[in-house]
Amino acid sequence: MIPIAKPYLTEDEAKAAYDTVLSGWVTQGPKVQEFEEKFAAYTGAKYAVAVSSCTTALHLAMIVAGIGEGDEVICPSMSYIATANSIKYAGAIPVFAEVNAYYNLDIADVEKRITPRTKAILLVHQMGMPADIDAFKSLCTKHNLLLIEDAACAIGSSYKGKKIGVHSDLVCFSFHPRKVITTGDGGMITTSNEAFYNRMKILRQHGMSINDRERHLSSKVLFEEHVEVGYNYRMTDIQAAVGIKQLEKLDWLIEERRKIAGQYFTAFAGIEHFRLPVEQPGYFTSHQSFSVYLKPSSPVSRNELMQKLLDMGISSRRGIMLSHTEKAYTDLDYHVELPVSEDLNRNSIILPLYVPMPQESVSKVIAAILEIFKG
Ligand SMILES: *Cc1c(COP(=O)(O)O)cnc(C)c1O
Repeated sequence: MIPIAKPYLTEDEAKAAYDTVLSGWVTQGPKVQEFEEKFAAYTGAKYAVAVSSCTTALHLAMIVAGIGEGDEVICPSMSYIATANSIKYAGAIPVFAEVNAYYNLDIADVEKRITPRTKAILLVHQMGMPADIDAFKSLCTKHNLLLIEDAACAIGSSYKGKKIGVHSDLVCFSFHPRKVITTGDGGMITTSNEAFYNRMKILRQHGMSINDRERHLSSKVLFEEHVEVGYNYRMTDIQAAVGIKQLEKLDWLIEERRKIAGQYFTAFAGIEHFRLPVEQPGYFTSHQSFSVYLKPSSPVSRNELMQKLLDMGISSRRGIMLSHTEKAYTDLDYHVELPVSEDLNRNSIILPLYVPMPQESVSKVIAAILEIFKG
């Protein structure tokens, strides 16, 4: 059976975790600091703050952005549900907007949903494909809103020649095993805003004014204060040690992913029933997932296609989920109509893509699809 995805973890990561366990420093300490410095340098952002997941990263971003009770934040419904949940954690209202044919927020639709209560736009780079950040930044400036980026899938992607993470002041990443690099679970926020940076470092560990490492390194007795109600959103040093190794391989992993995606593009270019992802000039995607949209002309439905592939030993997944149709969001007090998102959700499929994906598996996926759509 060909899986849909698989994390790339080797002896390197296992050794790094092993060494860290034996070092005596297991939770947030020197490895977390090293990972943060290397991650910030990789993206070009001034600072990076490591946390326990992208979900907790998004929650901290909401807090430092000043989002609270009664505020509205515009986000796509078509995203992993953590996107919308993070807005709820802050006591605010997620306002679901439409996406375009390529799974990212539709800016014209977003603008229509801005009200006097709107405080921010939560922009997702779906499946690693960068959204048009500059256009959204201009929209935010025009309406005095904050931009927060959900870059869970977009580690290593770039926009106009610069890595995702450097374009705005709250960019959140995920190290879940389904993403491009993993620490088991984990997240990171990049920022070049010093006030945001300092407050997020306090919030992630119980609102404590100094951390264990500072106390450990100090030659003077130091007493911490708890300056506000914080959280335990720490990343462990074991995770960070794995993350440092993963980061070293990130560019290579993306190149490998792009080679496989390249084979899919070439092989499927002639299938008129498919709409394939598009990488516009200036955009560079990590291909965290490879999604294909089946046009209405398709002789097989999306679900039939998934079954046929499964019968041939190939796993696939439905396209990205919708949040507004989940039970958790049935109590929204506004009417949500998102025909484009709903159509994409019903008619798109995610194909296997992971590193190292044996050439015979890539060829098998291609042959199966060409066979199903022949003639
Ligand atoms: C995976 C994902 C998340 C959640 O990431 P975690 O690290 O698992 O919390 C949030 N947003 C998007 C767009 C995702 O794909």
